Amino acid sequence: MNQNELFEKSKCMVPGGVHSPVRSFKGLHTTPKFIKEAKGAKFWDTDGKEYIDFCMSFGPLILGHQNEEVSVKLKEQLDRGWSYGACEPYSLDLAEFLVSKLDFIDQIRFVNSGTEAVMTAVRLARGVTKKNKIIKFNGCYHGHLDSLLIKAGSGLAGTAEASSAGVPASIASDTLVLELGDLNAVKEVLENNKNDVALIAIEPLPANNGLLPQDLEFLKGLRSLCDEYGALLLFDEVISGFRVGLGGMAAKTGITPDIVTYGKIIGGGLPVGAVGAKKEVMEYLAPVGPVYQAGTLSANPLAMVGGLSTLTQLTEENYKLLENNTLKIVALFKKWFKEYNNGQFSHLNMVSESSLFWIHPGEAPKRACDIPANLADEFYTLFEILLEKGIYLAPNAYEVGFVSLAHNEAIISELEQKLFS
Ligand SMILES: *Cc1c(COP(=O)(O)O)cnc(C)c1O
Repeated sequence: MNQNELFEKSKCMVPGGVHSPVRSFKGLHTTPKFIKEAKGAKFWDTDGKEYIDFCMSFGPLILGHQNEEVSVKLKEQLDRGWSYGACEPYSLDLAEFLVSKLDFIDQIRFVNSGTEAVMTAVRLARGVTKKNKIIKFNGCYHGHLDSLLIKAGSGLAGTAEASSAGVPASIASDTLVLELGDLNAVKEVLENNKNDVALIAIEPLPANNGLLPQDLEFLKGLRSLCDEYGALLLFDEVISGFRVGLGGMAAKTGITPDIVTYGKIIGGGLPVGAVGAKKEVMEYLAPVGPVYQAGTLSANPLAMVGGLSTLTQLTEENYKLLENNTLKIVALFKKWFKEYNNGQFSHLNMVSESSLFWIHPGEAPKRACDIPANLADEFYTLFEILLEKGIYLAPNAYEVGFVSLAHNEAIISELEQKLFS
C-alpha cells in the first residue's frame, strides 16, 4: 500500500488516522508519512523515501534514532523480561542518576508520560498546600490533563475556559491563564485569589507553541511571588529537562522550583515521565502520604534502562556539540530562506536555544499572543517543499525542531545539498 492508502486504512480504524493529533498533517495537502524504519538522524517511509528527521519523536531522541548503546542495553533488558510489577534495581539506577544530577530534588517518582507527571504534580501541589487554584501561561503546554487544557478567557486577567470539549467548566474555573512575561498580572491574580492558589505551572523554556525564551527576571519573579503567596512553583521540564543541559532550566537559571516534571529525553524514546521535588513534598505521595498516585507499568524496566543509557551519554562536551551543530543547521535554513525561489521565504527567520529551533516571521515573539495568526498558512507551503526535498520538520507551525547528536557534520552537509539542490 502507498502512503495515501495506508492513511485511508488508518482513518477507518483510528480517529483521524492518528494516535496523537499533531501527527495528522492537518491543513497540509500531503497525507502523513508512514515511517517503517529509522537510524541516526534519518527515517524512511514505507515507500522507501528517506528524510532527515528534525522532529525526533517530538524531543525524546536527543541521541538520534537507534543509538547503538541504548539498543544494546534494551536488548539485554529484553532477555531479563520487560515488566515485573514489583520492585527492581533498574528504576533505582535511573532515580539515583537523576537525583544526583538535580540538586533541587531529593526524590522522584516515575510515571508513563509527561501528562501523567504533570497530573501528579498538580494533585501533589493541591495536597501539600490544601489550596485549589492553579495558574498557567498562555502558550505553555503541560499535557492533556483536564485542568491544564485551558485557554485564556475573554474576561478579566486570569479568567479562563476549557480549550477542549469534555472539560467541565467547574474544572476550568480552577485554572487561571495569564500571558507570559507579565509579573504584575501574576501578582494581581494571586492577590485576587488570596490563599487559594496551589501552583504556578510554567515551561521555563516554553517550546510547545513556538519557542518563546523568557527573561530571567520573569522566572525569578515567579519564584518570589510563589514564596510570598504560599503557592508552589512547577517547572515543567518535559522538553527542556536534559535538553538545555544536565540540570535543565532549573540549573541554567539557578531558580529552584518546588516541583519539577520530566518526560521525553529521560525515557530516551520509551514511555517515561517523572515528578521530582524535595522529600518534604514528595512524601505527601502514597504510600507515605495522603495524595494518591499509581501506575501498572510505572518504572517499566525497559523504559528505565533506555532512559539511563540515553542520559549517561549526555556529557558537557556533547551539549556543546549539539548547540554548535544547531547553529550550523539554523544558519543553513536562514540562508535558504533568503535564496529560495527569489526570496519566497525571505521574511522568515529562525530562533534557537540549545538544540531546539523554531521558524517564525519577523522578530522572535516572546508571548503566544504576539505570534501572527496566519503562521500556519505559510508554514504549510514551506513544510511541503522541505518534505519533498527529504527534510522532515514536525508537521505543525507551532512545533519546534529538534537536533540530535546524530545530526553530525555529514548530515549537515547532506542537509545543505538537499536544501540547495
Ligand atoms: C510533551 C510535553 C508534555 C506532555 O508529555 P506527554 O508525554 O506527551 O504526555 C507536558 N509538558 C511539556 C512541557 C511537554 O513538552
